[in-house]
Amino acid sequence: MKLEASILRDFFLDSSLSDFFKETDIFYIDFLSHTAQSCTTLRSFGYEDSDLLKVIEDFPVHESDRERANLQLQRIWSGQTETFIDAFRLASKDKSTYRWLRFTIKVLLRNPNKRPRIIVGHVVDLDDLINSQEEIRERLVEIDTMRELFTAINKSLDFGETFSRTTSQLRRIIPFDRACAESLEDGRLVVVAGYGYNESDLSGLVFPAHGVDNPAVRAIEERRIVICNDVRQSFPGFINATEDFATMSWLGIPLIYEKKVIGLLTLDNKELNAYNDQHVRIASELSEYIAIALEHARRHQLVTRQAMTDKLTGLANRYGLETHGISLFQKAIEEEHSIGVLILDIDHFKQINDTYGHAYGDVVLQTIAMTIRGQIRTRDYAIRYGGEEFVVLLPDLGTREALIVAERLRNKIAQIKMEENKKMPTVSIGIYAAIPGTLDILHEYIRKADMALYAAKEAGRNRSRVWSISPEFYGER
Ligand code: GH3
Ligand code: MG
Ligand code: MG
Repeated sequence: MKLEASILRDFFLDSSLSDFFKETDIFYIDFLSHTAQSCTTLRSFGYEDSDLLKVIEDFPVHESDRERANLQLQRIWSGQTETFIDAFRLASKDKSTYRWLRFTIKVLLRNPNKRPRIIVGHVVDLDDLINSQEEIRERLVEIDTMRELFTAINKSLDFGETFSRTTSQLRRIIPFDRACAESLEDGRLVVVAGYGYNESDLSGLVFPAHGVDNPAVRAIEERRIVICNDVRQSFPGFINATEDFATMSWLGIPLIYEKKVIGLLTLDNKELNAYNDQHVRIASELSEYIAIALEHARRHQLVTRQAMTDKLTGLANRYGLETHGISLFQKAIEEEHSIGVLILDIDHFKQINDTYGHAYGDVVLQTIAMTIRGQIRTRDYAIRYGGEEFVVLLPDLGTREALIVAERLRNKIAQIKMEENKKMPTVSIGIYAAIPGTLDILHEYIRKADMALYAAKEAGRNRSRVWSISPEFYGER
């Protein structure tokens, strides 16, 4: 059926129908006579009859809906279609708010040039519905994330691993660019894991947990989550900006285990005002579980450390050699770096025991262990290898440097003065250093160092010897 323009206009302008249009939220626009009739919803947005022509031309929708809206209108203008139904966030006339509206637009009549002459439209305000759907969707993501988080937290005893799993999940529901887990130890906050930092920025970082006024200390002392939505304003100097990162918002979540604060989880955001009550709610629900993971990891670490430590001397034991020692050797293989191995044996230790008693022998062992520890770098690794034998692993050191370390050690030990003028034994040291190949094993390096030790003993003790392939080196055997 072909509709007559004049009939249509009369229809829409019929005053007896105006209530009907109000009720049904139908609007119409006649582009030829420039007449239009707005409807209840559009009026509530501030758009009166006279605004409608402009509204349909400019179509003031939200940035994110712009492309879609243009496409729909284009299809109408070009005659590609007579109808579209789509929802957009329309701006109010004063641009103060946006609401989701579903538009049903139909071209009733076109001009001979195919441009629309009369269009009618129907709008439905979907804003509340869409917002509640959005909220439900957010809740579902939250529930799913929580589930993933609990799995992550229970999966591993390694806190670093747990933390990186946790943070990547947590980012789905709380916005942050950096995160940091700090363990409360002796009144200080020791950084144990981070997200979004360079590895080197974090190692060895320690912050005060008391005695100053900053949000971290407040979170710890007041045992509550602290939001800081403008860090630089409210706590200037609390977090120093680096070249590539400036914290604007900060969230500090105390980690509480069995009523005791054991650490702090911090989230940093580059944006101002990043955090709200919703984030606090999620964070507080979660912090309990992160605290459990941290505490379990701490206990696990303690037990592992104990298992790797020799009780008498505090150095590593054989188990330490088999775990950390082998990983150092493996690293040397991977990096194609040299690694030095020293094996150190006390000279005539049996006599010391026999002369001064076993207890004094133990003190000698402890004194030598302490001296070794004091003479090596933190990344070197000293192991009590046997009763009165020690192995020292020296990453990155070649033969020359390993020999220098050995001689320095030997001289230091030779200079030790014991109380009551009791005799301090000397030590002999065997050395082997090389760049290990993929097939090499640490025990072969130790065996070679041990052969050199044997040569040092043969040559009269209180000396260092580097491994050599030549049989004469080992004397008559
Ligand atoms: P050498 O110069 O050839 O190494 O002579 P040595 O006497 O040191 O060698 P030997 O292997 O004959 O003696 C090692 C002694 O170390 C025997 C043992 O009683 C003592 N020893 C091993 N472990 C401990 C310990 O934990 N405490 C004490 N006090 N003595 C220990
Ligand atoms: Mg021995
Ligand atoms: Mg000995």
